[in-house]
Amino acid sequence: MLWFVLTTGACNLACKYCGGSFRNEHSPWRPRAAPGEVAKFIASRDSSPVVFFYGGEPLLNPQYIAEVMDALGNARFGIQTNGTLVKRLPTELWRRFSTVLLSIDGPKEVTDYYRGVGVYDKVVEALRWLKNEVGCRCKVIARMAVSSRTRLYRDVVYLLGLGFDAVHWQLNVIWTEEWGPAEFLKWAEESYLPDVARLRDLFLAEARRGRVLGVIPFLGIYRALLVRPYDWVPCGAGKHSFAINTDGRVLHCPIAVSEKWATAGHIKIGIKNGVKLKDKCLTCEYRHVCGGRCLYTHYEDYWGEEGFDAVCQVTKRTIQILEEGAPILAELMRGGVVRKEDIDYDPLLDSTEVIP
Ligand code: SF4
Ligand code: SF4
Repeated sequence: MLWFVLTTGACNLACKYCGGSFRNEHSPWRPRAAPGEVAKFIASRDSSPVVFFYGGEPLLNPQYIAEVMDALGNARFGIQTNGTLVKRLPTELWRRFSTVLLSIDGPKEVTDYYRGVGVYDKVVEALRWLKNEVGCRCKVIARMAVSSRTRLYRDVVYLLGLGFDAVHWQLNVIWTEEWGPAEFLKWAEESYLPDVARLRDLFLAEARRGRVLGVIPFLGIYRALLVRPYDWVPCGAGKHSFAINTDGRVLHCPIAVSEKWATAGHIKIGIKNGVKLKDKCLTCEYRHVCGGRCLYTHYEDYWGEEGFDAVCQVTKRTIQILEEGAPILAELMRGGVVRKEDIDYDPLLDSTEVIP
C-alpha cells in the first residue's frame, strides 16, 4: 500500500496552477496528529508500507519526517517536494529514500513563470546536491505540470538531459483558470499530441538500443498494454493508497483535504472504503489502461462534463499513439532487448499517477 503522510498544510511557494498552502482549518500547518501515532496506524495495517511525505511542502517540517522514518524502519520511503528546501533534512535520511520527486516544469523560463522567479535554479541545485554530494541512490523524478507554455518534447528531453532519472507530468486541467476545455483541446491537437508521438518515437528508438527511457506516463501505459492492466485509477486513490492529513484524518486522495467525500476515516478510528468512478469509465474501451485517470475529477467536476470529456479525449489519443508502438516494444521484449521488468512499472512505488 502507498501512504501519503502530510507533514504540514503550508507551502513556501504559490505556483500559478496551485496557489500554495492549504487552509489551516483543512490541513493544519502544525500537525495535530503525532508522527508516532501516524507511524503506528500505518504499521498496524501494512507490513511493507510505501510512505511518501507530502504537504503543503513537506520539508517545512523536517522533524516530522525524521520521526516517522525512525518509527517505520521497514518502510520504503519517498517524497514529493518543490525542491527548494532539501538541505533541511540530514544527508543520512536522504540516503534512505527510494524515490524523490522534485517539481520542475522544464527550462528556466517555463518553470520560473509558473512556480516563481529563482525556483528553477534551486531545483537544479537540489538535483545536483542529491546526486553528487549526498550520494542518494534514490530515483529522482522530475514532476512537471504541463500547461499552455509547455512544449512537451522539448521539455521532457531537456529534463532527462539535466540528469533526472525519470520524468512524470500531469496536465494542468479541470481545476485551472488558465484555459477551458475548448482551448485545451486546441492546444492538445496542435502541440501536445504531436509531441507525444515524437516522444514515443524517441522512446522506441532508445528501446531498440536496449535503453528504456524514464518517461513515466509511457512506462505506465505500456505496462498496462503489454504486461498487466489496471483495475483502478493508477494512483491507487481510495483503494491502494491513502493519505494521512495533519489533523489525523485518512483521505482517499492527498489533495482532497476539504472535500467531504474524500474522508476515509481517522487514525484513531480506522478506514472505511466507498469511493467510485463515473459510470462512463465502466464501458470505456480504455479502462484497463487509463483506470479512470484521477479519482478526484470524478467528484470535483470544475470544468463540467464537457471538460471531463475533453480530458478523456486527450487520454484516449495518448493511449492510441502509444498503442501504435506497442508491437515494436513487445517484439523487443520477446527478443530480450528490453527486459519485462523495465516495462512492468508500478506507480505505487513512485507515487505517480501514470495518466497525464
Ligand atoms: S478515458 Fe475517460 S472514460 Fe475512459 S477510463 Fe479514462 S477517465 Fe474513464
Ligand atoms: S491522480 Fe487524482 S485521485 Fe489520484 S492522487 Fe492525484 S489528485 Fe488524487
